[in-house]
Amino acid sequence: MITSNHLGGMEMRKIRTEELIPIIKELCKKACYELENELVDKLKESFEEEESELGKEVLDELIENAEYAKENQVASCQDTGITVVHMEIGQEVVWEGMYLYDAVNEGVRQGYEEGYLRKSVVGDPLIRENTGDNTPAVIRTDIVEGDKVKIVVMPKGAGSENMSRLKMLTPADGSEGVKSFVLETIRLAGGKACPPLIVGVGIGGTMDYAAWLSKRALQRPLGEANKAEHLKKLELELLEEINKTGIGPLGLGGTVTALDVNIEAFPCHIASLPVAVNLQCNSSRHAVVTI
Ligand code: SF4
Repeated sequence: MITSNHLGGMEMRKIRTEELIPIIKELCKKACYELENELVDKLKESFEEEESELGKEVLDELIENAEYAKENQVASCQDTGITVVHMEIGQEVVWEGMYLYDAVNEGVRQGYEEGYLRKSVVGDPLIRENTGDNTPAVIRTDIVEGDKVKIVVMPKGAGSENMSRLKMLTPADGSEGVKSFVLETIRLAGGKACPPLIVGVGIGGTMDYAAWLSKRALQRPLGEANKAEHLKKLELELLEEINKTGIGPLGLGGTVTALDVNIEAFPCHIASLPVAVNLQCNSSRHAVVTI
């Protein structure tokens, strides 16, 4: 039940946290079953551009796989990931009911169970016992203006996540330093990150914030460039260089190693230049809803 009342002169919108459970459940299933149309279109475009025959064959299979998964409502990849849930919460929202994070985790639990999605999360990272229900999710909340809540569910496979990297550059390294770190990361990843990739790059902030920026960069719609001219230019240059590495689809050689490069930047300390690269594989999944 969504209602509203006044708090300190401000119109507040009440949302019961329990309402999130079915929403998150459906988003988990949708994300794992249906690659976004834009991504499938981009794969088709890349098929035309790919110069290697083997690369073309791989792209053709990836397209067929994505279409089959959507049509039959099954997971597009066996690795259905650790579930990253990002919520942008309007500051005029007041939550009622159970603890917000418990509601999110309950949605994930139900989504992975009902959707026959692989449970890929271990509890203690050193003891490594599977939690059996893909919880806990990695939850990030940001407070934004307004009274809406945007929810992004992003199952993140280990292949691409494991090849992601972060480095504290010096300010003197500048954009050339960023470029060479990103390209080094791509070369080290080779086929292990399941290319063609979407490359999220976070520049600035602090060590942890740069890592978050690089993950948030993966949420940007395909083909949408950074609004700052110098960052847009860097995105294009990186995409070109990455596609010259010859790694190709699934690392079997070719001219399509990445589909897009998204950079997010944030102010940082005068003595720092953090840079993080979060790799996203060809099974780039996210489902979004605004309530
Ligand atoms: S990296 Fe992506 S495509 Fe590769 S196995 Fe993991 S989820 Fe699947």
